[in-house]
Amino acid sequence: MGSNNLKDIPDKPESQKLQLSGKEIYCVVDIDSFEAMVWAKEFNELQGKPVLVVNAQRVIIAVSYEAKKFGISRAHDNVKSARSKCPTPPLIVFEIPGKDGKSDQTIPQKASFEIQKCVRSFVNNKFPGTVICMKSKDEIYFEFSEYLDKNLVQTSNLDLDLLPHKPKTVWIGASKDKIEERRLALASNIAEQILQKIREETGFIASAGVAASCIVAKIACGNDKPDALTIVTNSGVDDLYAQTNMKDAPYLKGKNGISIFRLWERKGHVLKSLLDFKKCVDIAEIQNELQLTDFQANQLKEVAEGFDLEPLEDKKKATLQSSWNIINQDRPCTQEILKKYIMNCCEELELKINHENYLFERIPKEIKIVLRSKISKRDSEGQPKVTVKSIDTRTLKYENPQKSGTLGSFIWTKLCEMWKEGEKTFANFEDVTEIMFTTSY
Ligand SMILES: [Mg+2]
Repeated sequence: MGSNNLKDIPDKPESQKLQLSGKEIYCVVDIDSFEAMVWAKEFNELQGKPVLVVNAQRVIIAVSYEAKKFGISRAHDNVKSARSKCPTPPLIVFEIPGKDGKSDQTIPQKASFEIQKCVRSFVNNKFPGTVICMKSKDEIYFEFSEYLDKNLVQTSNLDLDLLPHKPKTVWIGASKDKIEERRLALASNIAEQILQKIREETGFIASAGVAASCIVAKIACGNDKPDALTIVTNSGVDDLYAQTNMKDAPYLKGKNGISIFRLWERKGHVLKSLLDFKKCVDIAEIQNELQLTDFQANQLKEVAEGFDLEPLEDKKKATLQSSWNIINQDRPCTQEILKKYIMNCCEELELKINHENYLFERIPKEIKIVLRSKISKRDSEGQPKVTVKSIDTRTLKYENPQKSGTLGSFIWTKLCEMWKEGEKTFANFEDVTEIMFTTSY
C-alpha cells in the first residue's frame, strides 16, 4: 500500500481551534437530486429512470437517485464514465432545454419558488422567530434559537414524543448536556415536520442536517441521502468529520478539493476524511500556495473549523442577478443581437423579482447593467472594457405578478434613449460579450 511511508498528519495548535457556542441551533434542508427531480416532473419519460441531467456544454448538473445506485456521482464522473457504469437499463442523458447557449433556468426557478413559498408560510406560522435563508435554489438554512428559547419546557426528562420519528434518523455523538439534548431534539422534530411539509405540498424529497453550526449542519445534511435526517451533537462533530470523505465535503468537492489534496500529497500526507483536513490544514498556507481569494479561503476556514464566520441572515437583504454570455463571437454583436440577449436576461430577472415581490413585498429601485467587452479589448490602463449603467426603475409599475417582457421592454427603451442622447460609452455594442443585471433597493 505504501501508506506506511506517509507522515502522520500534524496536529494544529490548540490556539487555532474554535469552540461552538452551543446557543444557536441550525438546520440545513437540501432537496435530493433537485434538478433531476425538477425535469422528471416536467418530462414523464424520465420518472423512475437512471437519468443524468446535463447542460449545453455536457457538464453534469444532476444525477437521479436511480442513477446514483450505479455509483454515478456528479463530482467524480463525466457523461462517458457514467454511461459505462450503467449499461442496463440504459442511462438517459437529458440535456436541459436551452436558449441562445444558456440552459433554461425558469423551470428550476419556479420549482424553487414553490418550495420556498411552502416552507416560509409553514415555518413563520408554526415556529415564529426562526431565521430562514434560501442559499441556493434547493438549499434552505434555518436558525431556531429564538423559537427554542421561548418554547423549550425545561423538565428533567426528555419527552420521547419530542424526538423525530423518520426511519432514516441518525444521531451522531452522545449528548453530555441535558439542555443541548433537548434543544437538538426539538429542532430535529421541527426539521422533520419541514421535510414532511415539502413532500406533501411540492412532491420533492429532501434531507436535513441539524447541529450547533451552519457548516456542521450542512455537512450532516449530505449524510446518507436521500430522505434522511442527521443530528450532530457538539461532541459528535469529529465523528461526522471522520466519516465524511474529504472529496465530498462542501467547498472541497470540485477543483479546490483536488488541488488541496495534491498540495498535501506533495508534502507527504494523505487527507482522506474531513477530520484529517480539520486536524492539519493551515488555511493561510493553502491560500498562499494555491492563490485563493479571501472569499474562498474563508469558506475553507469554515469547513476546517466547523464554525461559521458570519451569522445567518435572511437573504431578502441580498441583490438579485442575472447574466448571459453572448456566445456567437465569430460575428460582431449587433444592436439586434444585443436586444435579444437583454430581453432574455430580463425575462429571467423578472421571474426572480416577481417571486421576491410575492414573498417579501419588495421591488428594486434601480437595476445596474454591466456590459463586458471581449477580454482582448482593453482600456488605456490594460483593464477589460466594462460599461456600467444604472437605470432608475421606480417609474416602472410593478403589478403582482408582472407580465413577462415588461422589464425587458422598459430597459431596452431606456438604453435606446441613452444612445440617442449620444452617450459614447454605450455606442460600441459590437464588442459586447457578456451582459449582467443586478438589482438594488
Ligand atoms: Mg440538492
